[in-house]
Amino acid sequence: MSRGIETKCLHLEEDEGCSSNYGAVSYPIYQTATYAHLGVGKSTGYDYSRLQNPTRKHLEKVVASLENGLDALAFASGMAAITLMMELFHPGDHLIVDADLYGGTIRLFHNVSEKNGITFSSIDCYREDVESYINENTRAIYIETPTNPMMHVTDIEALGKITKKHNLLLIVDNTFLSPYFQNPLDFGADIVVHSGTKYLGGHNDTLAGFLVTNREDISEKFRFLIKTTGAGLAPFDSWLILRGIKTLGIRMERSQQNAAAIANWLKEQNAVTKVIYPGLPTHPGYEIMKKQARGFGAMITFQVKTREFALAILEKVRMIKFAESLGGVETLITYPTTQTHGDVPEEIREKNGITDSTLRLSVGIENVKDLLDELDNVFREIEGELHG
Ligand SMILES: *Cc1c(COP(=O)(O)O)cnc(C)c1O
Repeated sequence: MSRGIETKCLHLEEDEGCSSNYGAVSYPIYQTATYAHLGVGKSTGYDYSRLQNPTRKHLEKVVASLENGLDALAFASGMAAITLMMELFHPGDHLIVDADLYGGTIRLFHNVSEKNGITFSSIDCYREDVESYINENTRAIYIETPTNPMMHVTDIEALGKITKKHNLLLIVDNTFLSPYFQNPLDFGADIVVHSGTKYLGGHNDTLAGFLVTNREDISEKFRFLIKTTGAGLAPFDSWLILRGIKTLGIRMERSQQNAAAIANWLKEQNAVTKVIYPGLPTHPGYEIMKKQARGFGAMITFQVKTREFALAILEKVRMIKFAESLGGVETLITYPTTQTHGDVPEEIREKNGITDSTLRLSVGIENVKDLLDELDNVFREIEGELHG
Protein backbone atom coordinates (compact mmCIF):
# COMPACT_ATOMS: atom_id res chain seq x y z
CA MET A 1 0.00 0.00 0.00
CA SER A 2 1.23 3.47 -0.85
CA ARG A 3 2.28 5.62 2.09
CA GLY A 4 0.86 9.02 2.98
CA ILE A 5 2.48 12.03 1.38
CA GLU A 6 3.70 13.44 4.73
CA THR A 7 5.67 10.21 5.19
CA LYS A 8 6.95 10.26 1.61
CA CYS A 9 8.37 13.75 2.31
CA LEU A 10 10.60 12.19 4.98
CA HIS A 11 11.38 8.63 3.93
CA LEU A 12 12.32 7.00 0.67
CA GLU A 13 11.09 3.45 1.01
CA GLU A 14 13.80 1.87 -1.14
CA ASP A 15 16.58 3.53 0.89
CA GLU A 16 15.46 2.27 4.27
CA GLY A 17 17.52 0.32 6.74
CA CYS A 18 20.86 1.73 7.87
CA SER A 19 23.11 -0.15 5.48
CA SER A 20 24.05 2.92 3.43
CA ASN A 21 25.81 6.19 4.31
CA TYR A 22 26.77 4.95 7.81
CA GLY A 23 23.11 5.18 8.79
CA ALA A 24 23.06 8.98 8.35
CA VAL A 25 19.47 10.14 8.93
CA SER A 26 20.06 13.32 6.94
CA TYR A 27 21.15 12.38 3.42
CA PRO A 28 24.83 13.42 2.98
CA ILE A 29 25.98 16.18 0.63
CA TYR A 30 28.26 14.61 -1.95
CA GLN A 31 30.27 17.70 -2.79
CA THR A 32 32.23 16.18 -5.65
CA ALA A 33 32.52 17.00 -9.33
CA THR A 34 33.89 13.65 -10.43
CA TYR A 35 34.16 9.98 -9.38
CA ALA A 36 37.09 7.56 -9.52
CA HIS A 37 36.66 4.38 -11.52
CA LEU A 38 37.42 0.96 -10.09
CA GLY A 39 38.90 -0.07 -13.42
CA VAL A 40 38.33 0.24 -17.13
CA GLY A 41 34.60 -0.07 -17.82
CA LYS A 42 33.86 -0.21 -14.07
CA SER A 43 31.76 2.68 -12.74
CA THR A 44 30.36 3.27 -9.24
CA GLY A 45 27.21 4.38 -11.05
CA TYR A 46 28.45 7.97 -10.94
CA ASP A 47 30.94 9.40 -13.41
CA TYR A 48 30.63 13.19 -13.39
CA SER A 49 28.24 15.45 -11.45
CA ARG A 50 26.78 17.18 -14.51
CA LEU A 51 25.25 13.78 -15.36
CA GLN A 52 24.37 12.78 -11.84
CA ASN A 53 25.29 13.25 -8.19
CA PRO A 54 24.09 11.08 -5.29
CA THR A 55 22.53 13.97 -3.35
CA ARG A 56 20.69 15.22 -6.44
CA LYS A 57 19.64 11.68 -7.27
CA HIS A 58 18.18 11.21 -3.80
CA LEU A 59 16.21 14.46 -4.11
CA GLU A 60 14.95 13.46 -7.55
CA LYS A 61 13.68 10.14 -6.20
CA VAL A 62 11.84 11.92 -3.39
CA VAL A 63 10.18 14.38 -5.80
CA ALA A 64 9.27 11.58 -8.24
CA SER A 65 7.61 9.74 -5.38
CA LEU A 66 5.68 12.85 -4.25
CA GLU A 67 4.32 13.38 -7.77
CA ASN A 68 3.66 9.67 -8.46
CA GLY A 69 6.11 9.95 -11.35
CA LEU A 70 8.49 7.51 -12.95
CA ASP A 71 11.37 10.00 -12.95
CA ALA A 72 12.12 13.51 -11.74
CA LEU A 73 15.03 15.76 -12.67
CA ALA A 74 16.34 18.58 -10.47
CA PHE A 75 17.54 21.85 -12.03
CA ALA A 76 19.25 25.03 -10.92
CA SER A 77 15.94 26.93 -11.16
CA GLY A 78 12.39 26.56 -12.36
CA MET A 79 13.28 28.46 -15.53
CA ALA A 80 16.24 26.12 -16.18
CA ALA A 81 13.75 23.22 -15.99
CA ILE A 82 11.26 24.82 -18.40
CA THR A 83 14.06 25.84 -20.78
CA LEU A 84 15.30 22.25 -20.95
CA MET A 85 11.76 20.96 -21.43
CA MET A 86 11.40 23.21 -24.49
CA GLU A 87 14.24 21.23 -26.09
CA LEU A 88 11.69 18.46 -26.68
CA PHE A 89 10.31 20.63 -29.50
CA HIS A 90 11.54 21.46 -33.00
CA PRO A 91 11.28 24.46 -35.32
CA GLY A 92 7.77 24.48 -36.78
CA ASP A 93 6.15 22.92 -33.72
CA HIS A 94 3.11 24.64 -32.23
CA LEU A 95 2.11 24.77 -28.56
CA ILE A 96 -1.13 25.83 -26.94
CA VAL A 97 -0.34 27.66 -23.70
CA ASP A 98 -2.30 29.39 -20.99
CA ALA A 99 -2.49 33.15 -21.52
CA ASP A 100 -2.04 33.74 -17.79
CA LEU A 101 1.27 32.17 -16.74
CA TYR A 102 4.28 33.04 -14.61
CA GLY A 103 5.85 36.10 -16.31
CA GLY A 104 9.23 34.41 -16.76
CA THR A 105 7.60 31.55 -18.66
CA ILE A 106 5.85 34.01 -20.99
CA ARG A 107 9.19 35.78 -21.50
CA LEU A 108 10.90 32.47 -22.36
CA PHE A 109 8.22 31.42 -24.85
CA HIS A 110 8.09 34.75 -26.67
CA ASN A 111 11.74 35.76 -26.61
CA VAL A 112 13.62 32.47 -26.81
CA SER A 113 11.34 29.67 -28.02
CA GLU A 114 9.82 31.79 -30.83
CA LYS A 115 13.32 32.67 -32.03
CA ASN A 116 13.89 28.90 -32.19
CA GLY A 117 10.94 28.51 -34.57
CA ILE A 118 8.27 27.37 -32.13
CA THR A 119 4.85 29.02 -32.36
CA PHE A 120 2.28 29.55 -29.64
CA SER A 121 -1.42 30.07 -29.23
CA SER A 122 -1.90 31.82 -25.88
CA ILE A 123 -5.47 31.18 -24.77
CA ASP A 124 -7.56 30.91 -21.62
CA CYS A 125 -7.40 27.12 -21.24
CA TYR A 126 -9.84 27.24 -18.32
CA ARG A 127 -12.69 28.57 -20.45
CA GLU A 128 -11.91 28.39 -24.19
CA ASP A 129 -12.51 25.54 -26.64
CA VAL A 130 -8.93 24.26 -26.57
CA GLU A 131 -9.54 21.64 -29.27
CA SER A 132 -10.35 24.32 -31.86
CA TYR A 133 -6.76 25.65 -31.60
CA ILE A 134 -5.13 22.28 -32.39
CA ASN A 135 -3.50 22.06 -35.82
CA GLU A 136 -1.26 19.49 -37.51
CA ASN A 137 1.85 21.04 -35.94
CA THR A 138 0.51 21.15 -32.40
CA ARG A 139 2.66 19.10 -30.03
CA ALA A 140 1.66 20.09 -26.51
CA ILE A 141 -0.57 22.03 -24.17
CA TYR A 142 1.10 23.93 -21.34
CA ILE A 143 -0.91 25.12 -18.35
CA GLU A 144 -0.74 26.29 -14.79
CA THR A 145 -3.63 25.55 -12.46
CA PRO A 146 -4.25 27.73 -10.55
CA THR A 147 -2.55 30.27 -12.85
CA ASN A 148 -0.10 32.92 -11.71
CA PRO A 149 -1.40 35.43 -10.72
CA MET A 150 -5.08 35.35 -11.73
CA MET A 151 -5.78 31.95 -10.15
CA HIS A 152 -7.75 30.47 -13.03
CA VAL A 153 -8.47 26.79 -12.51
CA THR A 154 -8.38 24.32 -15.40
CA ASP A 155 -9.84 20.81 -15.31
CA ILE A 156 -6.69 18.70 -15.80
CA GLU A 157 -8.58 15.47 -16.48
CA ALA A 158 -10.75 17.04 -19.19
CA LEU A 159 -7.67 18.51 -20.87
CA GLY A 160 -5.86 15.18 -20.53
CA LYS A 161 -8.59 13.48 -22.55
CA ILE A 162 -8.08 16.02 -25.36
CA THR A 163 -4.29 15.65 -25.37
CA LYS A 164 -4.53 11.83 -25.41
CA LYS A 165 -7.01 11.92 -28.28
CA HIS A 166 -4.74 14.14 -30.38
CA ASN A 167 -1.48 12.55 -29.24
CA LEU A 168 -0.20 15.75 -27.61
CA LEU A 169 1.76 16.23 -24.41
CA LEU A 170 0.00 17.77 -21.44
CA ILE A 171 2.42 19.81 -19.35
CA VAL A 172 1.31 21.24 -16.00
CA ASP A 173 3.24 23.73 -13.88
CA ASN A 174 2.23 22.57 -10.39
CA THR A 175 4.24 25.18 -8.44
CA PHE A 176 1.27 26.94 -6.82
CA LEU A 177 -0.17 23.89 -5.06
CA SER A 178 2.93 21.70 -4.69
CA PRO A 179 2.64 17.88 -4.80
CA TYR A 180 1.17 18.01 -1.32
CA PHE A 181 -2.12 19.36 -2.67
CA GLN A 182 -2.17 18.26 -6.33
CA ASN A 183 -0.71 15.50 -8.52
CA PRO A 184 -1.38 16.33 -12.19
CA LEU A 185 0.12 13.05 -13.49
CA ASP A 186 -2.76 11.21 -11.80
CA PHE A 187 -5.20 13.20 -13.96
CA GLY A 188 -3.55 12.66 -17.34
CA ALA A 189 -0.62 15.08 -17.44
CA ASP A 190 2.59 13.77 -19.05
CA ILE A 191 5.02 16.25 -17.53
CA VAL A 192 4.85 18.22 -14.28
CA VAL A 193 6.94 21.35 -13.82
CA HIS A 194 7.93 22.86 -10.47
CA SER A 195 9.77 25.91 -9.37
CA GLY A 196 11.38 24.17 -6.37
CA THR A 197 12.32 27.66 -5.19
CA LYS A 198 8.75 27.97 -3.93
CA TYR A 199 6.91 25.46 -1.71
CA LEU A 200 9.28 22.50 -2.12
CA GLY A 201 12.25 24.50 -0.80
CA GLY A 202 9.87 26.55 1.28
CA HIS A 203 12.30 28.90 3.03
CA ASN A 204 12.98 31.68 0.49
CA ASP A 205 16.65 30.69 0.49
CA THR A 206 17.35 28.40 -2.51
CA LEU A 207 16.58 28.34 -6.23
CA ALA A 208 15.59 25.02 -7.80
CA GLY A 209 13.38 23.54 -10.49
CA PHE A 210 11.93 20.13 -11.40
CA LEU A 211 10.56 18.19 -14.32
CA VAL A 212 8.62 15.05 -13.45
CA THR A 213 7.23 12.52 -15.91
CA ASN A 214 5.59 9.12 -15.91
CA ARG A 215 6.77 8.32 -19.44
CA GLU A 216 9.89 6.29 -20.00
CA ASP A 217 10.60 7.86 -23.43
CA ILE A 218 10.38 11.42 -22.05
CA SER A 219 12.54 10.53 -19.06
CA GLU A 220 15.23 9.23 -21.43
CA LYS A 221 15.14 12.43 -23.48
CA PHE A 222 15.35 14.56 -20.35
CA ARG A 223 18.33 12.53 -19.05
CA PHE A 224 20.14 13.05 -22.34
CA LEU A 225 19.33 16.77 -22.30
CA ILE A 226 20.40 17.45 -18.71
CA LYS A 227 23.72 15.73 -19.35
CA THR A 228 24.14 17.74 -22.53
CA THR A 229 23.02 21.18 -21.37
CA GLY A 230 24.27 21.03 -17.78
CA ALA A 231 21.73 22.88 -15.58
CA GLY A 232 21.41 20.14 -12.93
CA LEU A 233 20.99 21.25 -9.31
CA ALA A 234 24.18 21.50 -7.22
CA PRO A 235 24.70 19.03 -4.33
CA PHE A 236 24.37 21.58 -1.51
CA ASP A 237 21.23 23.11 -3.02
CA SER A 238 19.82 19.61 -3.51
CA TRP A 239 20.33 19.03 0.20
CA LEU A 240 18.60 22.32 1.10
CA ILE A 241 15.56 21.36 -0.98
CA LEU A 242 15.53 17.86 0.60
CA ARG A 243 15.53 19.56 3.99
CA GLY A 244 12.70 21.87 2.93
CA ILE A 245 10.58 18.99 1.67
CA LYS A 246 10.66 17.28 5.06
CA THR A 247 8.21 19.89 6.42
CA LEU A 248 6.18 20.40 3.22
CA GLY A 249 3.02 18.93 4.75
CA ILE A 250 2.86 21.03 7.89
CA ARG A 251 3.93 24.16 6.02
CA MET A 252 1.22 23.72 3.37
CA GLU A 253 -1.47 23.07 5.98
CA ARG A 254 -0.58 26.09 8.10
CA SER A 255 -0.15 28.50 5.17
CA GLN A 256 -3.45 27.36 3.70
CA GLN A 257 -5.21 27.88 7.03
CA ASN A 258 -3.74 31.39 7.29
CA ALA A 259 -4.63 32.15 3.67
CA ALA A 260 -8.27 31.21 4.18
CA ALA A 261 -8.49 33.59 7.15
CA ILE A 262 -6.84 36.40 5.19
CA ALA A 263 -9.03 35.86 2.11
CA ASN A 264 -12.11 36.15 4.31
CA TRP A 265 -10.75 39.28 5.98
CA LEU A 266 -9.94 40.90 2.61
CA LYS A 267 -13.49 40.22 1.41
CA GLU A 268 -14.81 42.44 4.19
CA GLN A 269 -12.65 45.46 3.39
CA ASN A 270 -14.17 48.47 1.63
CA ALA A 271 -10.90 49.22 -0.12
CA VAL A 272 -10.78 45.73 -1.67
CA THR A 273 -12.74 45.38 -4.90
CA LYS A 274 -11.95 41.72 -5.64
CA VAL A 275 -10.49 38.70 -3.83
CA ILE A 276 -9.35 35.77 -5.96
CA TYR A 277 -8.72 32.69 -3.84
CA PRO A 278 -9.77 29.26 -5.14
CA GLY A 279 -10.75 28.21 -1.62
CA LEU A 280 -13.66 30.67 -1.62
CA PRO A 281 -16.82 28.83 -2.71
CA THR A 282 -17.58 31.84 -4.96
CA HIS A 283 -14.42 31.19 -7.03
CA PRO A 284 -15.47 29.77 -10.42
CA GLY A 285 -12.87 26.98 -10.12
CA TYR A 286 -13.91 25.89 -6.62
CA GLU A 287 -15.65 22.64 -7.66
CA ILE A 288 -12.84 21.64 -10.04
CA MET A 289 -10.33 22.29 -7.27
CA LYS A 290 -12.25 19.95 -4.98
CA LYS A 291 -12.15 17.26 -7.67
CA GLN A 292 -8.45 17.42 -8.60
CA ALA A 293 -6.71 18.88 -5.54
CA ARG A 294 -6.54 18.05 -1.83
CA GLY A 295 -6.42 21.71 -0.84
CA PHE A 296 -6.62 25.25 -2.14
CA GLY A 297 -3.13 26.50 -1.42
CA ALA A 298 -2.02 29.77 0.11
CA MET A 299 -1.84 32.20 -2.81
CA ILE A 300 -4.31 35.08 -2.88
CA THR A 301 -4.65 37.71 -5.58
CA PHE A 302 -6.67 40.80 -4.77
CA GLN A 303 -7.62 44.10 -6.26
CA VAL A 304 -7.85 47.38 -4.34
CA LYS A 305 -9.82 50.44 -5.38
CA THR A 306 -6.92 52.54 -6.67
CA ARG A 307 -3.30 52.32 -7.76
CA GLU A 308 -2.43 54.72 -4.90
CA PHE A 309 -3.95 52.34 -2.38
CA ALA A 310 -1.97 49.40 -3.80
CA LEU A 311 1.31 51.33 -3.74
CA ALA A 312 0.64 52.55 -0.20
CA ILE A 313 0.20 48.94 1.00
CA LEU A 314 3.56 48.03 -0.52
CA GLU A 315 5.21 51.02 1.14
CA LYS A 316 3.73 50.36 4.57
CA VAL A 317 4.03 46.63 5.15
CA ARG A 318 6.85 45.72 7.52
CA MET A 319 6.61 42.14 8.78
CA ILE A 320 4.97 41.11 5.52
CA LYS A 321 7.72 41.63 2.95
CA PHE A 322 7.26 43.46 -0.35
CA ALA A 323 9.16 40.95 -2.48
CA GLU A 324 8.94 38.68 -5.50
CA SER A 325 8.58 34.94 -5.13
CA LEU A 326 6.19 32.78 -3.12
CA GLY A 327 5.81 29.54 -1.27
CA GLY A 328 8.14 30.27 1.63
CA VAL A 329 7.49 30.32 5.36
CA GLU A 330 7.54 34.16 5.34
CA THR A 331 4.50 36.00 4.00
CA LEU A 332 5.33 38.03 0.88
CA ILE A 333 3.33 40.60 -1.04
CA THR A 334 4.03 41.08 -4.74
CA TYR A 335 3.11 43.72 -7.30
CA PRO A 336 2.79 41.65 -10.51
CA THR A 337 2.69 44.73 -12.79
CA THR A 338 6.31 45.67 -12.07
CA GLN A 339 7.68 42.45 -10.57
CA THR A 340 6.77 38.91 -11.67
CA HIS A 341 4.99 40.14 -14.82
CA GLY A 342 7.00 43.32 -15.46
CA ASP A 343 8.35 42.03 -18.78
CA VAL A 344 4.96 40.92 -20.06
CA PRO A 345 3.73 43.46 -22.68
CA GLU A 346 1.13 45.81 -21.20
CA GLU A 347 -1.66 44.79 -23.60
CA ILE A 348 -1.25 41.11 -22.64
CA ARG A 349 -1.14 42.02 -18.96
CA GLU A 350 -4.33 44.04 -19.30
CA LYS A 351 -6.05 41.33 -21.29
CA ASN A 352 -5.23 38.89 -18.49
CA GLY A 353 -6.73 41.28 -15.97
CA ILE A 354 -3.52 42.29 -14.19
CA THR A 355 -3.88 45.99 -13.38
CA ASP A 356 -1.88 48.54 -11.42
CA SER A 357 -4.13 47.87 -8.43
CA THR A 358 -3.59 44.08 -8.45
CA LEU A 359 -1.62 42.61 -5.56
CA ARG A 360 -0.59 39.03 -4.83
CA LEU A 361 -0.06 37.54 -1.39
CA SER A 362 1.93 34.42 -0.68
CA VAL A 363 0.76 33.59 2.80
CA GLY A 364 3.33 32.09 5.14
CA ILE A 365 3.20 30.28 8.47
CA GLU A 366 3.25 33.22 10.90
CA ASN A 367 0.67 33.49 13.68
CA VAL A 368 -2.45 34.45 11.74
CA LYS A 369 -3.42 37.13 14.25
CA ASP A 370 -0.12 38.92 13.65
CA LEU A 371 -0.72 38.85 9.89
CA LEU A 372 -4.26 40.17 10.24
CA ASP A 373 -3.09 42.84 12.71
CA GLU A 374 -0.45 44.07 10.30
CA LEU A 375 -2.87 44.19 7.37
CA ASP A 376 -5.48 45.92 9.50
CA ASN A 377 -3.00 48.55 10.70
CA VAL A 378 -1.77 49.18 7.16
CA PHE A 379 -5.30 49.52 5.75
CA ARG A 380 -6.47 51.88 8.56
CA GLU A 381 -3.37 54.03 8.21
CA ILE A 382 -3.88 54.41 4.45
CA GLU A 383 -7.58 55.18 4.84
CA GLY A 384 -6.71 57.81 7.43
CA GLU A 385 -4.19 59.45 5.13
CA LEU A 386 -6.43 59.37 2.06
CA HIS A 387 -9.36 60.91 3.90
CA GLY A 388 -7.47 63.12 6.36
C1 LIG B 1 8.74 31.12 -9.87
C2 LIG B 1 7.99 30.36 -10.87
C3 LIG B 1 8.64 29.77 -11.97
C4 LIG B 1 10.13 29.98 -12.23
O1 LIG B 1 10.90 29.38 -11.25
P1 LIG B 1 12.35 29.92 -10.77
O2 LIG B 1 12.74 28.93 -9.74
O3 LIG B 1 12.13 31.31 -10.23
O4 LIG B 1 13.22 29.93 -11.96
C5 LIG B 1 7.90 29.01 -12.84
N1 LIG B 1 6.57 28.83 -12.66
C6 LIG B 1 5.91 29.39 -11.62
C7 LIG B 1 4.43 29.16 -11.47
C8 LIG B 1 6.60 30.17 -10.70
O5 LIG B 1 5.93 30.73 -9.68
